[in-house]
Amino acid sequence: MAEELNPFKIAQEQLDKAASIMKLDRQALAILREPRRTLIVNLPVRMDNGTVRTFTGFRVQYNDARGPAKGGIRFHPEETLDTVKALSAWMTWKCSLADIPFGGGKGGIICDPKKLSQSETERLSRAYIRAIAEFIGPDKDIPAPDVYTTPQIMAWMMDEYSTIKGSNQFATITGKPVEVWGSKGRMDSTAKGGMFVMREAAKAMKINLKTAHIAVQGFGNAGMYAYTLSKSMFGSKVVAISDSQGGIYDPDGLDLEKLEDAKKRTGSVQGYRSKNAKKVTNDELLELNVDILIPAAIENQIRKDNADRIKAKLVLELANGPVTPDATSVLFEKGIVDLPDFLVNSGGVIGSYFEWVQNINQYYWPTDRFYAELDKIISKSFSDTMAMQKSYKDKGVKISPRNAAYIIAVDRVAKAMKARGWY
Ligand code: GLU
Repeated sequence: MAEELNPFKIAQEQLDKAASIMKLDRQALAILREPRRTLIVNLPVRMDNGTVRTFTGFRVQYNDARGPAKGGIRFHPEETLDTVKALSAWMTWKCSLADIPFGGGKGGIICDPKKLSQSETERLSRAYIRAIAEFIGPDKDIPAPDVYTTPQIMAWMMDEYSTIKGSNQFATITGKPVEVWGSKGRMDSTAKGGMFVMREAAKAMKINLKTAHIAVQGFGNAGMYAYTLSKSMFGSKVVAISDSQGGIYDPDGLDLEKLEDAKKRTGSVQGYRSKNAKKVTNDELLELNVDILIPAAIENQIRKDNADRIKAKLVLELANGPVTPDATSVLFEKGIVDLPDFLVNSGGVIGSYFEWVQNINQYYWPTDRFYAELDKIISKSFSDTMAMQKSYKDKGVKISPRNAAYIIAVDRVAKAMKARGWY
């Protein structure tokens, strides 16, 4: 991986930038530049053919000054410790910006989930929990789903942890199926939160969502729901969507049934057929002439080399880390409003917070309460970010929404560390 695309270097660079604008205490910055605890675990797993294969897993607890570490677990063939470290830092800022009582953490296993059977996936998930069990818990570190991990995997993990503890431990893992006390609403809460942010940003920028054209990169949990919710909540026209194999563009708008059919028939949204539909690559999708661009797949998609060709007025980072720091500056110079990942996709962890609260209280909410509370929290994160940007503007300093959000998040964590006597 090119060093400038190393996610942890990027996370540190972003933090340094915000720290210099806000004149953060150097001792606080030194603590915040590195994770508090990093675990590397070795996981022997019996495969279906009887052999034992060893996998490598990570869990990073970045900062817990404001509450237990919180963050998802990724299953990915190209997982690296530096990616997990970066994502754990971003979880810290995400929970702090949302002002929920968690720190940040992240986990990952190097594996290709598409090549594992269901029972191998279950054994791998349980092995991972056995390896990190003494370091997690509802007051210590609370894992959740992320790239290629599902509610079913969370149920196995919660079950394994409960077996180790000798009692049900629902509040230790979030993103569970509702049958084992996952929360109603959690399933689409990342995208739903992103939609609330889109509504607020569109209002501020005077974009009419009814007539807006939207392109979505990614057809996983975040991208798929972003696509359906843009249509159902606002009547917007989603003209392009993609998966790992490529994308499809139809200026007349895409139809869900046809997309699902294409996915079933050909394994990719590129199998979509309609009069005006045409195939695009993932890079071409980003450069389409649309009002709103929603990168909802993986890191480093908008970079120095293509940022100049982005035409959308508003970029909503629903994935983690889709825009590199160089590209953030280019978009900012071009006057494109690029709302950062740890604001836009915080609906996932805010939903996890609601799930954890319900598990601890053993009192369960109806879905409409879940969405109403999510709307309140994430809309406030958006308005706090805009207010911070404006407060700098009033002092004659132009800062991006990302830097404004960083300043809020870092300041809260730094103040908690200070109060606890860490520096
Ligand atoms: N994986 C999601 C994220 O990156 C959710 C994390 C959580 O719910 O703890 O925000």
